[in-house]
Amino acid sequence: MHLPAWLLLAPLWLAFLVALVPIIWLLRNRNHPPGRCPACGYDLRGNLSGRCPECGTPAPPDQS
Ligand SMILES: [Zn+2]
Repeated sequence: MHLPAWLLLAPLWLAFLVALVPIIWLLRNRNHPPGRCPACGYDLRGNLSGRCPECGTPAPPDQS
């Protein structure tokens, strides 16, 4: 019974891919949508101070 090396490593690759999915998902969710603080995601709609009240990060004022 001679299995090729890549086939023996297949479960490892599968585990790697399964672990990769939530990592990519987390990284994608770090990009907050417009109208939210780029640092903490606080909802800045209607905020005209140009600064996040939650964490103090300078943020562009509401443009909608
Ligand atoms: Zn913030």
